[in-house]
Order: sequence, then structure tokens, then C-alpha cells
Amino acid sequence: MSLRLSTPASGLPGIGDKAALDLAGIGIKTIRDLLWYVPFRYDDFSRHVQIAKAPIDTPITIDARIKSIGLRASTSSRVKIVDAVIEDGSGELKVIWFNQPYLLKTLPVGSKHSFAGLIDHRFGKTFSNPIHEPVGQNVNTGRIVPVYGLSGGLTMRKLRDAIQRSLTIVDTLSDWLPSEIVEDKSMPTLATALASVHFPNSHEELNRGIDRLKFDELFLHQMLFEEVRRDRKTKTATVIPIDEVSTKTFVSTLPFTLTRAQKVAAWEILQDLAKPVPMNRLLEGDVGSGKTVVAAIAVQAADRSVYLAPTEILATQQHKAFCKMMSSRNIALLTHNQIYFNSEKVKRAELVEKISNGEVDCLIGTHAVLQEGIDLSRTSLVIIDEQHRFGVAQRHALLERDPHHAPHLLSMTATPIPRSLALTIYGDLELSILDELPKGRKPIGTAMVPVEQRVGMWKHVRSEIEQGRQVFVICPLIDPSDSLGSKSVTDVEKMLSKDILKGLRIVTLHGKLKSDEKQKRNEDFRDGKIDVLVSTTVVEVGVDVPNATVMVIMSAERFGLAQLHQLRGRVGRSDLQSYCYLLPDDLNPHSNNRLQAVVESQNGFELAERDLELRGAGNVFGNAQSGFPDFQFATSADVPLMKQARDWAQKLLLDKDFFETHPLVRARIEEALEQIHLE
Ligand code: ADP
Ligand code: MG
Repeated sequence: MSLRLSTPASGLPGIGDKAALDLAGIGIKTIRDLLWYVPFRYDDFSRHVQIAKAPIDTPITIDARIKSIGLRASTSSRVKIVDAVIEDGSGELKVIWFNQPYLLKTLPVGSKHSFAGLIDHRFGKTFSNPIHEPVGQNVNTGRIVPVYGLSGGLTMRKLRDAIQRSLTIVDTLSDWLPSEIVEDKSMPTLATALASVHFPNSHEELNRGIDRLKFDELFLHQMLFEEVRRDRKTKTATVIPIDEVSTKTFVSTLPFTLTRAQKVAAWEILQDLAKPVPMNRLLEGDVGSGKTVVAAIAVQAADRSVYLAPTEILATQQHKAFCKMMSSRNIALLTHNQIYFNSEKVKRAELVEKISNGEVDCLIGTHAVLQEGIDLSRTSLVIIDEQHRFGVAQRHALLERDPHHAPHLLSMTATPIPRSLALTIYGDLELSILDELPKGRKPIGTAMVPVEQRVGMWKHVRSEIEQGRQVFVICPLIDPSDSLGSKSVTDVEKMLSKDILKGLRIVTLHGKLKSDEKQKRNEDFRDGKIDVLVSTTVVEVGVDVPNATVMVIMSAERFGLAQLHQLRGRVGRSDLQSYCYLLPDDLNPHSNNRLQAVVESQNGFELAERDLELRGAGNVFGNAQSGFPDFQFATSADVPLMKQARDWAQKLLLDKDFFETHPLVRARIEEALEQIHLE
């Protein structure tokens, strides 16, 4: 079968049904997806050496023959050890593999292979767990080797092989980037860049490939923004006149007084809403600074607003909160599983109709509100909570509903982006910053808890609960996994309820639960019917349970710094003293520094900077946890590249016929916009 970009991955030799399913688990369906599945790291095994000259603790490749190989009788039957000796004419080397008894068959005495890995010196000079492949194959050894994220039973070898085969048709990928840019910046073509990002022949080639992918991403992003920006400039927005009396009345019904920063931000927003030009404002405020109520002030002023939240749990929570704050307004909830009109559960069709009729004053939901058939054309105000959780394309889709009219846009984020960077990323936008926490908030007592102090810590947890408080326990996994050794929700719940927190109301929460069950548990926790919520990071963003005062994070070294700060932000949301305990399983110096940073600072801005320092140069691509919005490839170190992308986008769009002369750019933008409907 001849391969095409759209060929399913299962069309490749070696990819059976099981492997295809595993690939689907990491979002790979086709050859095209394989080409875009970039490594998260590289191992540089390009240094070929002879055994006699092989250095210790340095990544190397050795071509050698198997002199002897056998299964060692080990005292513990659980670990199967394969012992071998390899020779290459210059000398001999001891090799050891754990739990790979099948190697006795694949590596018979006398056969010659390339071996790549590190030699260590713990028990004499030993090559531990080297990777092997036929001499000259140069996919898994003897080169800069890509390391990919895996899932299920997928092996690195299989994935590398599949990607290498896919690369044979990489040239059929059309290069959408205008040739004037490619030439001006003497960049590699898209095909060359992808080939070098997967199997680079040198670090220089790799860097050029990475830069090209980053530039593509940044350029697409800037084109989308530039287009929306131009487009919005030509459109009018609904004028929402300032009604001081009703705003004051609304504020007076709140159970607290607004902070100075909240008042200023709300005032700035209300003034924008009163203008016939579409507002474009970013509300920045650290976790717990009280962004929701500022948004609510805007919502009560508008009719027909849409409030977009990144998770169902958060959307449901905000729906509840808004219904309570604005009992005279019609507040609806629309997610894939939860559909409400005020406090009433309704059918989807019924709600869709009410939305079209204009009966809904505020529609709260996840990206499910972006589905076809939902009439958002007369929306006057769009609020995007935790905006970096949404793609540019999703935001674009929300704003591009009507040829003449554009909604006001309020984006909210806890990610502290300096003004200059915000301007570079988003173009001309206004900023409101909540730079203070509500009165009476106490710093969250944060500590790393070594094993010997954990019993004492759990006792403290118990005493908090006995005083009527509630507790989050976060684990990285849902179910136990032997490969990682990290803590799972299932195990921890068992451990706690059997022993140290016996008799308390402990409930689990994670993504595998049915939506209704998730909502129920979450609500029960909010209503104080549960003492301890053992959860995955589904509670990471936005969840607001002011009575919770303790956050325990299991296997804490498995979380990113920004994520830890967000998780900690689930407590300390009232004037009660709160605590955050970090329980690492296994510390290396890097994760230790990260946890230490969280212990030392409560300030999201400081932590973001610290995060950047700690990441250093090791991480080539950005990721969802980096706290740098919107990008898969680019990181905050790529601001200069982003500026170049912006300048190009602005310059090219000056040409009225640009899209006619560059249909591939048009197609690429449309493709990006399509993706949001596929979820
Ligand atoms: P975030 O900025 O993280 O989204 P929220 O808007 O969820 O924060 O607010 C955090 C908590 O603080 C909520 O329980 C909210 O009701 C409360 N809150 C907000 N503003 C104030 C205030 N001015 N005084 C006291 N509590 C407040
Ligand atoms: Mg929030």
C-alpha cells in the first residue's frame, strides 16, 4: 500500500490493532499525526567508541559482538537479569539487562549489534540496559535519538520505527509558510524541519528544525490574532450603558467588600462595555485574588453573555455561584454532560432554543458551547476564564460569529504575564491587574514533608477536620501503576480510610468517573458533606471551596511548578489559616529545587520566573504546564521569534489580496479553526 498523509497509522508495518489503539491514546490516528508527534527530549548517542576507549557515565554507541549471554539466577525471583559480555577487537565489556529475558533469543552468541547507553562503575565497568539494534540501522543508537511520550503497551522502538517510516513521505506535506519568509530567514522547509526534529543529524540541524516549527506556530498564532484584530476593528459592539445604581446594589449583596484592585478592574471593564467598540481586556490576578466576582459584575450589567470555563467542574461551579449571585437573571449551563437552565436540568434542544430566543442572560459552559447549532450571534460579552487553557482558534471561533457585530471580550488568567509580553502575544489589548488578595488572607503554610514526619502531618490533617475544616489530597495517578511508583487515588484512598483517617468521610474524584458522579462528589465536598477529597489534578484550576484548609500533594515531584502553585491555590481562600504539604516520593536535585521554590514563595509572578530559571535550556519545547499560554512548541524564551512572526503577519496582511495569493495560509488557518469542532 502506498502511504499518504491521511493513511491510518495501522497501515504501517508493525502497527497492529493494539498498537493503533495505543497510538490513538496519545492522539495519533494518521501518518500526518505521527509526523507531528515531536519528541519531548533527545538522547545523544552519536558518539561511537571502541570498548577499550569507552568513557564512563557518558552516552555512547558501541558496535560489538556477543561473546557470551545468559540468564543469571537471581535471589529475588521478581527481577530477571540477563548477563552478557560483548567484544569488539579492542576489548570486552560486561553488559547487564533487567527484565528482558527474551534478549537471549534476539542476541545470540556471535551476533553483532550496535549498543547505546551509559557505562557505569557501580559493580565494575558495566553497560547497563543498553539499547541494541542491527549495526548500521541508526534509528535507536549511533545518533541523536528522539525520545517520545508513550502510552499503553507502545514501545519506544515501535514508535520510532513508525515515525521513521512516516518520514519517507514527509515531502508530500505542503509548506504553507509564505516563501518570502522561508527565503528571508533562510529556514529549512517544513518537511526538512520535521525530519530533523525527529532524527537530527546534528544539534545545529535540530535547532534549525525546532526554530522552524516554533516560527510556524507563532506565525499562525499571529495571523489568527491579526485577523481577529483587524476584523474586530471594523465591527461594532453592543453599548452596555453604565448603571451605577444596579451595580452598587449588586455589589452590596455580596458577602464581602471588594478589594481596591477589584473595584478598579470592575470600573475599567464597565467603562469599556459602555463603548460601541469591542472591548479586548485581559484580567490578570493570582490564584484566589477574586477574578470571578469581577466577571460577575460585568455579567450582571450585560444581557447575553457567554462565560467559557476550561473544565466541566469549573463551569458547574461558576454556574452555581452566578445563579446564587444573580437570582433574577436566567443563567444557563452547557457542557457535554451537564445542561441546566437556572437550577433546572433541561434537554439540550430545549436550551438551544432558549439561547436562540434570547431567553438566556448568561450562558456558562466549556468548549461545548462552541458546537454547531448554538446561536451565539448576538452575544454582547464573552468571558474566557483561565484563558490560556483555550486555543487561539477556539477564542477566534467565539468572536467571529457575525459580520457586523463583535462581542466585548474579557479574558482572565492567573498566569502572570508582564504587560510587554502580553502586548507581544495578543497585540493591542487592555490589562487589568488584581495585585492584592482579599483582606484577611494569611500566607499558606507550605512545607515539604519528609517520610519520618508524615504520621505527624496526618495527625494535623485529622485535627483540622475535627475542627470542621476540609482537606484535598492530590495524586498524580488514578490507578496504581507498577512502572512509575507514583501514588494513585485508589491506593491513597484505601490507605487513609483503613488507617490514619479512619472513620472520616473520604471520597475520590478523577476523570474516569461519570460526569454526574463527578458533579455530585464535587458538590458534596463544596457542601461540607465530605471531609477529604482524594483527587487527581481535575481540581487544579478554579475550584473554590473556602472551607478547605489543607492541600496534601502526593508524589509532589511529579508536578510542574506552575501546577503546584495552582493546586496550592485551592486552599487559603478564606481568612482561615491554610496549609499545603508536599510529599515527594523520590527527589532529584531538580525537583527538589522546584518544591523548595513553592515552599519559599507564594507569589505566582516570582514562581513563574523561578520556573523559567529552573527549566534552563534542557527543555526544547514548551508544554501545557509551563504556564506560557497557547503554545505547543514555543516557550517564553522565544519572544524575539514571536516579534518577528508578528511583524511578518502585520506586513503580509497589508496586502489586500494576501489570502488569494497564499491559499495555503488560508487553508492552514481554516484547518486550525476546524480543529475546535472535532473535539
Ligand atoms: P480566582 O481569582 O482564583 O478565580 P475566585 O474568584 O474564585 O478567585 O475567588 C476566591 C475566593 O475569594 C472565593 O471564595 C470568593 O468568593 C472570595 N472573594 C472574592 N473576592 C473577595 C473579597 N473582596 N473579599 C473576600 N473574599 C473574596
Ligand atoms: Mg478562577
